[in-house]
Amino acid sequence: MGEKLIGAVEAGGTKFILALARSSGDILARTRVPTTVPAVTFAAMREFFDQATGAHGPIASFGIASFGPIDIDPASSAYGTFTTTPKPGWSGARFHDALAGFGAPITVDTDVNGAALGEWHSGAGQGCGTLAYTTIGTGIGTGLVRDGRSLMGFSHYESGHIRPPRDLARDPYPGKCPFHADCLEGLASGPAIADRWGASLDQVDNREDAVELIGSYIAHLAAALVLLHMPDRLIFGGGVMHAPGLIASVRRQCERQLAGYIVDPRLDDGLERYIVAPGLGDDAGITGAIELGRQALGE
Ligand code: ZN
Repeated sequence: MGEKLIGAVEAGGTKFILALARSSGDILARTRVPTTVPAVTFAAMREFFDQATGAHGPIASFGIASFGPIDIDPASSAYGTFTTTPKPGWSGARFHDALAGFGAPITVDTDVNGAALGEWHSGAGQGCGTLAYTTIGTGIGTGLVRDGRSLMGFSHYESGHIRPPRDLARDPYPGKCPFHADCLEGLASGPAIADRWGASLDQVDNREDAVELIGSYIAHLAAALVLLHMPDRLIFGGGVMHAPGLIASVRRQCERQLAGYIVDPRLDDGLERYIVAPGLGDDAGITGAIELGRQALGE
């Protein structure tokens, strides 16, 4: 079975990372193409897989971890279709149409769920039964993996849009979300931080206070994830989490918010083993896309 070939796509808002891999995970060919409009980007994607097929053999399945919003319900007639994305030209574009010529099964999931799967498979989430992976970057989202499958309801989760408690004297910033203003994404995403302070979190004046404030919002999500899903581990990644001291602040404030209510050996003193940084860095997405391709094979 190790010889079957998987076409893997990490579809981001600025670039697509494409790979041809064996089902064992070895990558045979890899490239990146800019995300412009579907007619151009999908054509470049097809060309890469055509060439890779010529060099290595036919593709047995595709795994796709994509930006959204996108329909990820395998039972839906619109499975794999971009829905209401503000990205010009992409609403209505469908991976299944673009890749139909290869005649291989396709599994599509979100970029966050893909990264969560990648971390579960070979990163900081190895060995977890249930894992929550959250990215704090341009947007905020959480992927939950249970026994190697990402969880969803009628659609993918939207943890970035819960509303954390606020102290307006401490943080009068009104928030940046076009739907909710001061939801988590409206307060703690990279664009919200830049809008509020005119700098990234590691460059603002009063850095310690700023890190503690943003940490309090993220800790609210961390505590909610524990209470809702009881994951074996929480991973926090994304550009904002690179700010020095932020993950320590999230651990400290999450522990305070839980207030000793959840007693389990997984929740270690100080949460240093429970709340962790990603292990795969930039490779989480494509690793997860390969795992999605493996699932499309039925393996
Ligand atoms: Zn929102």
